[in-house]
Amino acid sequence: MSGSVLILGGDGFCGWPTALHLSAQGYDVAIVDNLSRRSIDDQLGASSLTPIASIDERLAAWRSVTGKEIPFWGIDIAADYSGFRNVVSQRRPDAIVHFAEQRSAPYSMKGVNEKNYTIDNNVRTTHHTLLAMVELGLDAHLVHLGTTGVYGYSTVDMVIAEGYLDVIIPLEEGRSIRDTILYPTQPGSIYHLTKSLDQLLFQFYAQNDRLRITDLHQGIVWGTQTAETRRHPALVNRFDYDGDYGTVLNRFLVEAAIGYPLTVHGTGGQTRGFINIQDTVRCVALALENPPAAGEKPRIFNQVAETKRVRDLAEMIAGMTGAQIAFVDNPRKEAVENELALSNQSFLDLGLAPILLEEQLFTETIEIVGAYKDRIDRELIPAQSLWTTGHRPGLVKHL
Ligand code: NAD
Repeated sequence: MSGSVLILGGDGFCGWPTALHLSAQGYDVAIVDNLSRRSIDDQLGASSLTPIASIDERLAAWRSVTGKEIPFWGIDIAADYSGFRNVVSQRRPDAIVHFAEQRSAPYSMKGVNEKNYTIDNNVRTTHHTLLAMVELGLDAHLVHLGTTGVYGYSTVDMVIAEGYLDVIIPLEEGRSIRDTILYPTQPGSIYHLTKSLDQLLFQFYAQNDRLRITDLHQGIVWGTQTAETRRHPALVNRFDYDGDYGTVLNRFLVEAAIGYPLTVHGTGGQTRGFINIQDTVRCVALALENPPAAGEKPRIFNQVAETKRVRDLAEMIAGMTGAQIAFVDNPRKEAVENELALSNQSFLDLGLAPILLEEQLFTETIEIVGAYKDRIDRELIPAQSLWTTGHRPGLVKHL
């Protein structure tokens, strides 16, 4: 592959392995990241289960194993528009991949400061990216990481199409019109709300400025390593397991490894989309190879391999490890039970053969959890953020 790609948020869980994968594929890759994810870890007293190297060490390790250089800019895209625009102007990339947002739903619901920060940070990084492209007359393809969470979690059993809904609007005298609209969003947290707002920004800039945009509605990512992050210890990817940033599956695996009960929120009747980190990087590469044309509305792909009910996931891991399951009060405000079926036809058509949970669960993730078991801090595991002030303190049981 050839061409230059600017990765926003390229030090993060999804951004780092994607930067390496694209570099390995032959793209000329550069990263912008203000390292805020590392600062939030410090603020929360949490850290990745895997010992992640500094960004300088990471980039030096990549240089040592491949001879490839990945330039890095430590810029806050939300706060420093002119600094960011200067990088875009200097690189004039063929594509921009945008991961640079505060991505934890529980963190976004912690309190006034976190709500404000998540809205300001996420909406501004997206808007500054679009603004810089327009101001610099840059005909780049923007690939953004969105979330399947924007669809909401209804109890209706139907397959959710990719981003859009065909509607028939009845008019008077038996007439009607057909239209295709953005799938009505139903965000369940401030974080998800920012992803819903991103969609409107994309719609506007694609229509007004003919920007070429692909929005990847990604499910919950599990796993840690990719072919590229395995190439040197300093390239290891992050693995979050704390109550704010640890995604459900990684949290269950850590719990199983240390003999802690698998903490299922509520009845565990929530159904969610999942994807392995190795498929995340493949999907981004596939999206880059298949850009939309100028003037097209934003292209939306559902980036999921499969959907699973949380309770079934817990039972699967309990069956494999002998762990106990503990049903704890749900800190979130969400449907107790929901159905979810998502079309992922676009990526299947582009040749993705996704990794499924049953196939890879142990070989990949357990290896990591076992290797770094001594670094696990049990205190970090329970969810600490509550969705509404109506919740009584202490409702989340600390096991
Ligand atoms: P992450 O927090 O590990 O990475 C995000 C990176 O962006 C961090 O390195 C952070 O320092 C950087 N960043 C944030 N704000 C910035 C700013 N203002 N300027 C510069 N850099 C900034 O998150 P992740 O898990 O890698 O997620 C990446 C993207 O994928 C997010 O947008 C997220 O919403 C989306 N996503 C992730 C998951 C998942 O399960 N991890 C699921 C669906 C969607």
